[in-house]
Amino acid sequence: MTVVFLSLGSNLGDKVAYLNQAIQSLSQVHETQLVKVSSFYRTAAWGKIDQDDFVNAVVQLETNLEAIDFLRECQQIEKDLDRVRHEHWGPRTIDIDILLYGEETFNTPDLKVPHPFMTERAFVLVPLAELTEDLVLPNTGKTVLEALAQLSHEDVTKI
Ligand code: ADP
Ligand code: MG
Repeated sequence: MTVVFLSLGSNLGDKVAYLNQAIQSLSQVHETQLVKVSSFYRTAAWGKIDQDDFVNAVVQLETNLEAIDFLRECQQIEKDLDRVRHEHWGPRTIDIDILLYGEETFNTPDLKVPHPFMTERAFVLVPLAELTEDLVLPNTGKTVLEALAQLSHEDVTKI
């Protein structure tokens, strides 16, 4: 089994409901078990600032699927939740990103793991630290807590 961490985000419609639906769907992926879910956090929009706040969470799972197949499952869940996207970093009902896939690394356009921006984003590291603060991040050699200490997380508030 591979331990997987996902970042979930929503900034359109009933954000909490979309996150809950995505988690419910993830728990039903074949050869996969849901292990832990973080609290939900409200965060200021990242990248583009002229849009609604996000609700973010991190989910830990275990799976026997290959990473690319797991990514397809996540993309199907996004599609099923009627994600509407008009622009890069624009509003979306649900975004599911693979943060970590066991010890594996991928660097193709389809799949970059560890997620390239994860150590820059408090809305990823704050919920991740709730689940596993001592985990060493393969891209930096730092623990989640050490990486988080270098970020401002004033904009990330537990719901
Ligand atoms: P965002 O970068 O805001 O998450 P999208 O969710 O639209 O944007 O993702 C765009 C592309 O990112 C997808 O086609 C997907 O294949 C690719 N991608 C690369 N690495 C990852 C990853 N670690 N998790 C999820 N998608 C990824
Ligand atoms: Mg994404």
